[in-house]
Parts: sequence; structure tokens; C-alpha cells
Amino acid sequence: PLPVLAVVGRPNVGKSTLVNRIIGRREAVVEDRPGVTRDRVSYEATWNGRRFKLVDTGGWEVDVLGIDAAVAAQAEFGIETADAVLFVVDATVGPTDTDEALVKLLRRSGKPVVLCANKVDGPSTEADAAMLWSLGLGEPFPVSALHGRGSGDLLDAVMEAL
Ligand code: GDP
Ligand code: MG
Repeated sequence: PLPVLAVVGRPNVGKSTLVNRIIGRREAVVEDRPGVTRDRVSYEATWNGRRFKLVDTGGWEVDVLGIDAAVAAQAEFGIETADAVLFVVDATVGPTDTDEALVKLLRRSGKPVVLCANKVDGPSTEADAAMLWSLGLGEPFPVSALHGRGSGDLLDAVMEAL
């Protein structure tokens, strides 16, 4: 079986956009409305000749729960089934309480985590990414899932973790 990478994070941080970027197709559904239910969540991807499975945890239907409970449930299941986790934070917002709660889940899991500081669309917002060192998950990788900026370095780190 292929190694599994779970993409975990709050709604609207850009998980699906990042998944699209990594698989190189517009397939994962990107939504402006947070917490929207999606169908497909699992994709196959390749980086430097290595194949892996990519799971967009935002794709699970959990609308019956409150948003925080939903995020936690999605994350927990995703983390459980993954070999490594790609934790996505919106660097333009900075760490929220929900992000901090997810960090606790990630810590408890003992799984390797790569921290993606997303929405760093240009050099002027690099400093936003550096703020995410405070999460205690190591180096934040500044990425623009929308434009592709930084995704190569991020994937290199992911392959080391997988
Ligand atoms: P998800 O809920 O975490 O899956 O987030 P989505 O991928 O659906 O994206 C939510 C919104 O953020 C959409 O409007 C995206 O276009 C936008 N977005 C995602 N990545 C970036 C990025 O790198 N830069 C900017 N400026 N916007 C982004
Ligand atoms: Mg999504």
C-alpha cells in the first residue's frame, strides 16, 4: 500500500487548493464557504518519482456537528489513518484557537507533521509564515497553494516525513 499523507487544517485555509496543486489537477473542490461538504477526499500523487496517497480531510461530511467539533473529528480520523500529516495554516490569519487545538491532537498522535504556512502569495508576506514557529511544530514552510510558490520545498519536506 502507498504511504498516506493526511491534509489537516481549519476550513478555508486552502487544503483543497493545496491538494489540487500537489496532484496537478483541478479536482478537489475548492469552496469559499467554510465547512462545505465534499465527495472525493482521496487522491494519488507523485513527487520525485515516489507515489503516495493524499487525503483531504476537509472532504468528509460532518455538517451535523458544530464547526469546531467537525474540524476536530475530521482531523482525528485523518491523523489516525495517516503515515504523516500536512498541517495547513492560513499564514495571513495567524494561529487561531482552533489551530492550537489541532496542534494538541497532532502532538498526541506522535505522527510526523509538516507545517504549511499557506497564502504566502509573495515575499511581502513571508514574515507571516515565521509567526507560525510559535505553534511548536518546527519550520513553517511558506506556500501559496493558489500560485504554486514554495510547494516544491514543502513536498521535499513531506517526502522526508513519509
Ligand atoms: P479548504 O476549506 O481548507 O479546503 O480551503 P479551500 O482550498 O477551499 O480554499 C479556501 C479559499 O482560500 C478559496 O477562496 C481559495 O481560493 C483561497 N486560497 C487557497 N489557497 C490560497 C493561497 O495560497 N493564496 C490565496 N490568496 N488564497 C488561497
Ligand atoms: Mg476543502
